[in-house]
Amino acid sequence: MFGSKTVEIFKEIETPFYYYDLALLRQTLDKYTAELKKYKYHAHYALKANANSRILSIVKSYGFGADCVSGNEVKLALDSGFDPSMTVYAGVGKSDKEIKIALEGNIFSFNCESIPEIQIIDQIAGSMGKKASISLRINPDIDAHTHKYITTGRSQDKFGISHWMFDDVIHALNSCKNIHFAGLHFHVGSQITDYNVFKMLALRVNEIVARFEEKEMRVENINLGGGLGVDYKNPDENPISDFETYFSIINKNLRQEPYQQVHFEPGRAIVCQCGTLISRVLYVKVGRGKKFAILDAGMNDLIRPALYQAVHKIENLTSNGRKMRYDVVGPICESSDRFVKNLLLPETKRGDIMAIRSAGAYGQVMAMRYNQKDIAPEYYSE
Ligand SMILES: *Cc1c(COP(=O)(O)O)cnc(C)c1O
Repeated sequence: MFGSKTVEIFKEIETPFYYYDLALLRQTLDKYTAELKKYKYHAHYALKANANSRILSIVKSYGFGADCVSGNEVKLALDSGFDPSMTVYAGVGKSDKEIKIALEGNIFSFNCESIPEIQIIDQIAGSMGKKASISLRINPDIDAHTHKYITTGRSQDKFGISHWMFDDVIHALNSCKNIHFAGLHFHVGSQITDYNVFKMLALRVNEIVARFEEKEMRVENINLGGGLGVDYKNPDENPISDFETYFSIINKNLRQEPYQQVHFEPGRAIVCQCGTLISRVLYVKVGRGKKFAILDAGMNDLIRPALYQAVHKIENLTSNGRKMRYDVVGPICESSDRFVKNLLLPETKRGDIMAIRSAGAYGQVMAMRYNQKDIAPEYYSE
């Protein structure tokens, strides 16, 4: 992935830092939008995956709307020039202040997750003399077959409105004066690699849309959320997810009437593979029956391994010595600050440059200052 010239440049820069390959980002967006256009679907980029300004401006240039999960994300999307009429806002816990920000911004739709939330939005919209456009985030009770911390669509998860609440929610909507019902929203999890999950989702969505339409609730917008996974093991062989298969499975199984628009909210599948966390080896320490490669990057820079047991591909860019096994760890005072256990690497020494791959999504955006560490800066291929 990295040519020798790039590695020479990396050696000159203070580590750790994030490196973004903007050519790969554009290739990914080219493929995604080509598939999207085939079916006349709409996409809203999930800002929470990566909100760097250059990445946002490139994504926006491809005609994406914005998918936000907080008032500040709504603000950032609108300040970055995303079209309010293509901006959606989900989240189980929207505060009054956040609701006001979104109403002032005249966004396309709140994706609402509970009856009390709808009632509060109705109240606030009324007090501002506005009409809020809302979709219902439905919990379709589908297991996304992904890590338990990133599955969101089972009945025991906190997200969405479950089928036993449908009558009550329709009743509540009908008694809200300042609400326009825009449609239904679904997002069942992240890093989904089993395409059958999307087929199941489409079929379940057909049933749920029919149930709402039987009750005179016209579903003009169907939003299937994000969640498409990427190949963390083989980022070079598989740098772009299989959007063709993904959309064709949806298109084959989802019923769509001429008055209905279909929306998506990709995050990870757009930005994951273009990002890499670049780090230096500080020390190699000999432990009991193993060696530790101690990096200057840690869970403060990339928390996914500690948070979701995620495994990123790690490469030593400056050694081609004999292969040995290492636990690759960070400097933070937590035992969970470990990127991977027993990884076969070429003999690694102080000063070697290490690449932690597929770090463009849920990487830098989750960075924190624990242990008073600095936030790693970013560099771009251009
Ligand atoms: C996080 C999130 C997404 C994006 O998920 P990815 O797995 O990154 O594609 C989309 N929609 C909602 C509501 C989300 O919370």
